[in-house]
Amino acid sequence: MRSSLASYRHTYGCHYITQDDIDAVVEVLKSDQLTCGQKVIDFEDSLKSFVQSKFAVSCSNGTTALHLASLAIGLKPGDVVIVPSITFLATANAARYCGAEVVFCDVDEESGLMRVEHLEEAFSRCSKKPKAVFPVHLAGQTVDMLSLSQFARSHEMYIIEDACHAFGSSYEDENGSHKVGDCFYSDLTTFSFHPVKNIATGEGGAITTNNDSYVSQMKCFRSHGMLRDFGSFENKDLGDDCDGNANPWYYEMQSLGYNYRLTDIQAALGQSQLLKINQFKEHRSSLKKHYDDLLLPYHSFIRPIRAQEGSSACWHLYSVLIDFKTLNIKRSVVMKKLAALGIGSQVHYIPVHLQPYYANIQKVNLPGAMSYYEKTLSLPLHVKMSQDDVAIIVKNLLEVVGLV
Ligand SMILES: *Cc1c(COP(=O)(O)O)cnc(C)c1O
Repeated sequence: MRSSLASYRHTYGCHYITQDDIDAVVEVLKSDQLTCGQKVIDFEDSLKSFVQSKFAVSCSNGTTALHLASLAIGLKPGDVVIVPSITFLATANAARYCGAEVVFCDVDEESGLMRVEHLEEAFSRCSKKPKAVFPVHLAGQTVDMLSLSQFARSHEMYIIEDACHAFGSSYEDENGSHKVGDCFYSDLTTFSFHPVKNIATGEGGAITTNNDSYVSQMKCFRSHGMLRDFGSFENKDLGDDCDGNANPWYYEMQSLGYNYRLTDIQAALGQSQLLKINQFKEHRSSLKKHYDDLLLPYHSFIRPIRAQEGSSACWHLYSVLIDFKTLNIKRSVVMKKLAALGIGSQVHYIPVHLQPYYANIQKVNLPGAMSYYEKTLSLPLHVKMSQDDVAIIVKNLLEVVGLV
């Protein structure tokens, strides 16, 4: 059955699949390897060359990417990590899977991005020295990694970038230009290939890093914690084929792993989608520009999120800040009226520190996150849309909020 959401003409986000994507998937379906094959390796190779990192590890989704990255840095019960409150649940949950305590960090009320002063403030609230910080590149815009990493490194924190919104984004600073995922300032970067994100594999995700010891750990955790190379066996006698090689059937489990693998079917789709990322980025940014232009006369009531200096976003979301109070209309009313007109919208995000699971552990006051949350609304932004769609959406929005 179709949900009512699926019948919207414009959802807030949507994949864009063409015949070459379909052909790539069909080719795998006709082959004799649906998983653990060459397509996964090829996709990982393409990912790492695209983001300019040394390594890429694919996995089943963006959430497992965050979990694998957390495992790679050895997060465990008793550790403390810092996560911005304006993000998807999964950023914080990944640290919880490892038993770590999450301290929520405030964000800029106009961009939703975490800044170094927010990190410093969250740091001062930690009960012990935090082990890691998870900067989130919200909507595709990058946080200022230079200042954030200076603070984090001076306090010996690991840095895991949640770039689930930001595949294809890049930024410039005094150290040059960087692709998101190059891990110039971080230990690991995570991506999601969910259909609403910048490229789609159905479900899917990846981690990039420049550190090969993280790679072997993540590959091990991705596949049940199984090891197959003789050098790493503890039970040398069981694993030895008497010629100093691993017995062909033998595997060893030294830590608790998972099945977090991406299939070759998904990897083939990702590989095909990746070829179009620059085209997607351009299209998304032209739609965003058109939105910005059309909304400019109404800026005192509806404005785009603040642009981050130096950031060249592959826009995942088109989020605006709306002064619902001044306009004297409730966000729920706006969303329902837009929905009735066939226009999907969404709120990114409910501050995670308000979720009962987290609030019941620790209550915290984050004014930037609350202010951002009260005003934000994401309007449709995806590659299937045209400039005319943007114009229709803006016209309808202005009518719904009573500005025309
Ligand atoms: C989508 C998303 C995730 C999770 O990715 P999935 O592939 O849906 O598991 C994590 N963090 C952020 C910021 C996201 O947007």
